[in-house]
Amino acid sequence: NKGKNQIAFFSEKILIGKTRQLDLTELLRESVERGFKDFEVYYQMQVNADTREIKGAEALARWKCEKYGQIPPDQFIPILEESGLIMPVGRWIFEQALDACAHWIKKDPDFVISVNLSYVQLEDAGFIDFMEQAVLNSGVPPANVVVEMTESYIASNINRVEGIFDRIRSFGMKIAMDDFGTGYSSLGILKKIPADIVKIDRIFVRDVQTSHFDLTFIKFIVELCHDVGIEVCLEGVETEDEYEAVKPHDVDFIQGYLFGKPVPENTFEEQNFS
Ligand code: C2E
Ligand code: CA
Ligand code: CA
Ligand code: CA
Repeated sequence: NKGKNQIAFFSEKILIGKTRQLDLTELLRESVERGFKDFEVYYQMQVNADTREIKGAEALARWKCEKYGQIPPDQFIPILEESGLIMPVGRWIFEQALDACAHWIKKDPDFVISVNLSYVQLEDAGFIDFMEQAVLNSGVPPANVVVEMTESYIASNINRVEGIFDRIRSFGMKIAMDDFGTGYSSLGILKKIPADIVKIDRIFVRDVQTSHFDLTFIKFIVELCHDVGIEVCLEGVETEDEYEAVKPHDVDFIQGYLFGKPVPENTFEEQNFS
């Protein structure tokens, strides 16, 4: 509609995007083939909202490629998912996280490790078997392991997910519903297939000091969840002022830059267990 020049401009941009994506796919594949070279798992602490004491950590994938430098997971995870590479990488991340946790529970037996699962991993029939075996091999009690799944995946696969939830639970692990509040049917899925933990997305914290709606949303979700026995983790608390604003509303756990950014395993250990 806007004329030839504009069309040419957009298609060129798309072309560059596609080329880079193909390039990244190949670089990721190489990285996997070389024993997950350039991949790393970072850990971000989660704290008890009342006491600020450490409760556990979320494992977060990092990838630094030689050609383009550090690529954020929001960019490389979708490429891993599209190419199927998320299968080996996801298993590797899960094992790395359990390995780290096995050390940390010796110092703090209540330490909980949370790992993100992609929807692609959940489509793999063997993945639950793999998880169970990996947990058994690591010596970490299943109760110290939380798997995080996004609200949007759960919402669009309610029937499949129910069976997956049952298996994960009967093995003794816990389930967290990630990015809560960003989908179209947040409350509906809470009722249909409740998780053990709800992680309220950080978009509700960003403006919490000025937005009456956001604070009310947090308050309301906490009340609702606690009524049915679900714990609440609040993501993205960056400042003391934000912490003060949400503190009266009884969230169970907090994960945010105020308490710690994601850091490599060694750094996490030095900061918390030495
Ligand atoms: P997520 O699962 O919602 O992870 C939390 C993200 O919020 C992390 O970004 C974390 O660094 C960031 N964050 C935590 N506290 C704060 C804060 O106070 N302020 C701000 N601005 N950000 C904060 P990260 O590490 O870049 O990961 C982005 C997303 O990539 C994750 O969102 C998750 O969806 C995906 N991802 C990361 N690692 C993995 C993985 O191992 N497997 C899968 N399937 N997805 C992963
Ligand atoms: Ca997560
Ligand atoms: Ca999240
Ligand atoms: Ca996310």
